[in-house]
Amino acid sequence: MDKHLQSVTMKRIERTMENLRKNRMQAWYVDSREGVVPLLETLIKEGDTVACGGSVTLFETGVIDHLRSGRYIFYDRYAEGLTPEQLTDVHRKAFTANAYLTSTNAITEEGELFNVDGKGNRVAAMIYGPDNVIVIAGRNKIVTDLYEAFSRVRQLAAPANAVRLSRKTPCVETGKCQDCKSKDRICSSFVVSRFQLVPDRIKVIIVGEELGY
Ligand code: SF4
Repeated sequence: MDKHLQSVTMKRIERTMENLRKNRMQAWYVDSREGVVPLLETLIKEGDTVACGGSVTLFETGVIDHLRSGRYIFYDRYAEGLTPEQLTDVHRKAFTANAYLTSTNAITEEGELFNVDGKGNRVAAMIYGPDNVIVIAGRNKIVTDLYEAFSRVRQLAAPANAVRLSRKTPCVETGKCQDCKSKDRICSSFVVSRFQLVPDRIKVIIVGEELGY
């Protein structure tokens, strides 16, 4: 990245991290995806139970492979051959995990996380259950405010996820949200995580790269 743009981007990241901390979430910055797993090793105890939300970022940063390394007891939503009933069971067990790992659809500079879910298992676990919620997000997830967060999800994140998940929704055809009534809709629960009653439960790792969508 151009050094002038890099300077402005870092100021934006620092502003975002400062406001996350004011909302009683912990915040870290790592330069690249390679920095994520070493940091995770300091945040999750060996032998802990762990679970994760659906996320491209977790694959791109090597986190899924790390969770499968045998270091933890992983409730693996991506395990091959899971039946729908077994997947539901994994989602329920996630609420009891010591640590829950996920990305986020957007982070505002005001220190808020914005997420949109279909079934709601991911946002539910972020809100309540696991003692340790670790959010990993590329710099591209940072937006100015909730208006931009909502727009980002409608114009980019949700349509891209609908394509990834092979949904039969209008956004797959048009590339933007049509606020559909499709049974394949992936946008049902819109959740803002702001000031936290339990301090430091949510830990946000911002990576200085573009990750996920
Ligand atoms: S509400 Fe429907 S059209 Fe809009 S992004 Fe979600 S799935 Fe796509």
